[in-house]
Amino acid sequence: MAELSAPGRSDRQGFSETCAGIVGEANVLTDPAALSVYGTDWTGQYTATPLAVARPGSTSEVAALVRACADAGVAIVPQGGRTGLCGGGVPLAGQASLVLSMGRMNRVRTVDEAARTMTVEAGVILESAQDAAEQHGLTFPLTFGAKGSCMIGGALSTNAGGMNVLRYGTARELCVGIEAVLPDGSIVNALTGLRKDNTGYDIKDLLIGAEGTLGIITAAVFKLYPQPRARTTAFLSIASLAQAHTVLNRLQDQTGGAVEVFEFMPRPAVDVICRTFPNIRHPLSRPAETGLLIEVATSRADDAEGLPDGSLRLNGQVLDLLAELMEDGVVLDAMVAQSEQQRTDLWHLRESILEAITANGPAYHTDISLPLARIAEFVTAMDDLSAELGFQPLTVGHLGDGNLHYALTAAQGRRWNDLPLDTMRQSLFDNLMALGGSFSAEHGIGQSKLDVMRARKEPAQLAAMRAIKRALDPKGVMNPGKLLPTD
Ligand code: FAD
Repeated sequence: MAELSAPGRSDRQGFSETCAGIVGEANVLTDPAALSVYGTDWTGQYTATPLAVARPGSTSEVAALVRACADAGVAIVPQGGRTGLCGGGVPLAGQASLVLSMGRMNRVRTVDEAARTMTVEAGVILESAQDAAEQHGLTFPLTFGAKGSCMIGGALSTNAGGMNVLRYGTARELCVGIEAVLPDGSIVNALTGLRKDNTGYDIKDLLIGAEGTLGIITAAVFKLYPQPRARTTAFLSIASLAQAHTVLNRLQDQTGGAVEVFEFMPRPAVDVICRTFPNIRHPLSRPAETGLLIEVATSRADDAEGLPDGSLRLNGQVLDLLAELMEDGVVLDAMVAQSEQQRTDLWHLRESILEAITANGPAYHTDISLPLARIAEFVTAMDDLSAELGFQPLTVGHLGDGNLHYALTAAQGRRWNDLPLDTMRQSLFDNLMALGGSFSAEHGIGQSKLDVMRARKEPAQLAAMRAIKRALDPKGVMNPGKLLPTD
């Protein structure tokens, strides 16, 4: 694959002028302050300066920019809200690159109430897409902590998951159509909204989760769902992590599969959140070490009872089951939200974890998944090893999906720089793979996990991915250096 290296000053100016000819001068940024903003992401760990930032306003402008980059041998770095956690959306140091910032392509093209689908452009902020669905009495269930900044193209390109995957699936499962520009500048127009289309390889599915290495997503069609009208949100203190799947399965059986959220919040994570944000109430009851944030929702009002603040809560079925689980000694305590405000507070607790960890010093984050039945075994083994090596794990996770964010921090009195992180990582990934897990459940690979990808991805799959990349992007212009480790 061609090496892309930094051009000289006059080439740079000529290239910026070419871009300006496509998107207009106002939409090409070259001043150092702007380049530094677009050259870094939410993590602050990945920083580099692109040649320029172009802000296309239409699919045809994206196609023209892609062709210009291919002609000039300039790498294209597609960028949404820069909330990705793996360094996928920022350029590489020393690489001649154009950041393609998608924020101007921010139209909700249609909401089709009859078909229950929505067509949105890649630069639409996730929360705006949710609002657009809500205005039509429907729900777009993709949601996670970065919803106020991340964009649809970024969420699709990382195949984002988040809180509601258990019931509605990941970004991939919600997407039923795509429009994209391929590395040769051709436009794929597959905004069909078809739920069934068996006409060969699925280009949509190739682009989803490709982290911008196979093309630029410009728009997508998503499934919408009936709006939940009644919810029960609760924080459960449970006897042990090994019993979590009993709680989940019994809730699913009792409610006909209406569990939307099933989040793992063990004591160390809750402690650090409440220490960092003293206004958050600690919901975990002693002696329980394991907390679960659960939410069950229904669109059927006849299943609901009104609360004093006017919100609706699922009727007795959930509360009866929680009482049964308490009698059985599985659930030790349950804090059930009695109002929308209490629900918001419980969500605030969950959504504060990343900020709380970040505020408390250096950490190594993982984003892993395991078969549900092996999670307790994994967590016990890793917690023991962490304690032995001087780490304090701060774990949360979308437990219903088998997805853990197992973060390592320094135990009290230990210095981060003195800790054997490499040894810990090796053991963690060895254990994970032996139990049939994945080293990236939802955040993707970007720059941050290239070494793990090289060492741990099944060779046959890695070879097939490289072959696809070579076939679609022979010049290697599309977000090079991300996702795929060098041969
Ligand atoms: P960016 O960060 O800008 O880009 C991400 C990747 O997508 C890059 O490789 C980029 O090149 C590529 N890309 C961007 N736009 C396009 C496009 N139009 N076409 C092709 N490629 C493109 N993720 C989860 O899955 N679940 C969570 O629960 C979750 N919680 C989070 C909480 C917080 C507080 C934060 C900061 C992040 C969280 N994330 C979570 C990470 C998540 O991956 C991103 O927030 C989001 O999916 C990325 O969207 P973005 O628009 O910011 O993309």
